[in-house]
Amino acid sequence: MRCRICGTANDRPALDLAAPALASTYEQIAVPTRVYVCASCGHIQSSDLPDIAEFYDTRYKCSMASEEFDQLCGMRDGRPIFRTDAQAAAVLGKVFPRLGAQVLDYGAGKAATLRKITAQRPDLVPHVFDVSDDYHASWRGWLPEDAMATYTVPEGWNGRFDLITAHYVFEHVQAPADIIRGLATLLAPRGQLFFSVPDCAANVGDLLVAEHVSHFTEVSLRRLVDDAGLALVDIDAGALPGAFTVVCSVSGKSESPVGHAQIEAAVEDARARCARLNKACRRLEQKMAANAARRSAIFGAGFYGAFLLTRAAAKPQIELCIDNNHHLWGTTLFDVPVRSPADLPMGTEIVYVGLNPGVARAAAASVPALQRPSLDLVFLEE
Ligand SMILES: [Zn+2]
Repeated sequence: MRCRICGTANDRPALDLAAPALASTYEQIAVPTRVYVCASCGHIQSSDLPDIAEFYDTRYKCSMASEEFDQLCGMRDGRPIFRTDAQAAAVLGKVFPRLGAQVLDYGAGKAATLRKITAQRPDLVPHVFDVSDDYHASWRGWLPEDAMATYTVPEGWNGRFDLITAHYVFEHVQAPADIIRGLATLLAPRGQLFFSVPDCAANVGDLLVAEHVSHFTEVSLRRLVDDAGLALVDIDAGALPGAFTVVCSVSGKSESPVGHAQIEAAVEDARARCARLNKACRRLEQKMAANAARRSAIFGAGFYGAFLLTRAAAKPQIELCIDNNHHLWGTTLFDVPVRSPADLPMGTEIVYVGLNPGVARAAAASVPALQRPSLDLVFLEE
C-alpha cells in the first residue's frame, strides 16, 4: 500500500489485528485492522475502508442523534468541555479573520462549530460543504441556500474564502494531499486553512478506528502542508484534547523542511506505539479467553469498550458495561447493557477497563465500585 502523504510503498503492517475492524459508529466491518508506518515521511496510516463513499453518505451519522448532541471531549475545573465549543475556541484563538470574512466549514457535518464561531463573530459570512445530504436540516434554519453545498464544491467558490476550517476531516480521506490542494484553490490570496486531526500519541485508540485511514504525526503534517503548496503558520498538539491543530496560509514562507533525524525519531516512535498496542490486544484476547468462565464487566462504554467487546470471542461472558456518562445508562453496547458503576454486581469477578490507556488508571481509581479488593482489574496496557 502506498503512503497517503509521500507515495512510498509500505508493505509490512506495524499493527495487525484479525477482522472485524471497528468504526467509530460501532459498526463492525469485516476487514482486518492494519496500520502501516511510512519510513520515508513518518506518516501512519490504515488500510482503505471498503465502500468508503457509501459509508459516509449513508452509514456515518456523526452526532445525528439530536440537534443538541455533542461529544464530550474533556473536563476543565469540574465542568464538561464539549467538542464543538473547544473547536470554536481553538479556531478563534488561532486565526483572526478580517471583518466580513468569507468562511467555509469543509466537511461541516451539522456545522455546530461554525455556528458557534459566527455567534461570536456575526460579521463573518459562513458557508458549509459535506459529502452527505443528511445535514441539510441542521443548515437550513440559519444559512442561505447558496452558502451550502454537498458532494461537489461550486465553481463560483474558487478563490473566495478568507478562512477554511476542516475539523477532523483529513484522517477520513484516502488522499489528503489532493483534498488540501483542492481547498487551496478555494482560498483568497491571503486566505488561511485551519484544520484539526486526531493525535494518536495522545490517544492510541485512534489507530483502531476503522474509518480513520490516516494517523498524522507532526512530521507528516508538515510534509502534507508543504506538498500542497501552503505555508505552515502554526502546528499545536495542545490546543484541543487528543488532537493536532494546524494553521496554514496561501502566502508566506514555510519554515525549513523537516530533517531526516526528525523523521527517523517519528518512525521509531510510531512503530513502538503500534507494537505496544498489538501486544496489548493479544494479551487482552488471551486474558478474556482464559477468564471466560468468570463473571465479567467492562468499564467504559465508549469506543474502547466497544473495541473490547469486539475482541471478546465469547461475548456472553461480559454481563454489563459500566460508564460514568449518565446519558449512556439504560442503553446497550452490542446487546450488553450499560449501567452506572454503582450497579456493578457484587458477584462480578473481573473488570476490563475500556478507556484511553493514558487516562485509564486514574479514571478507574476514581470509581468507588472498582475498589473492591476481590475485583480483578484488567487494563489494555500493562
Ligand atoms: Zn510517506
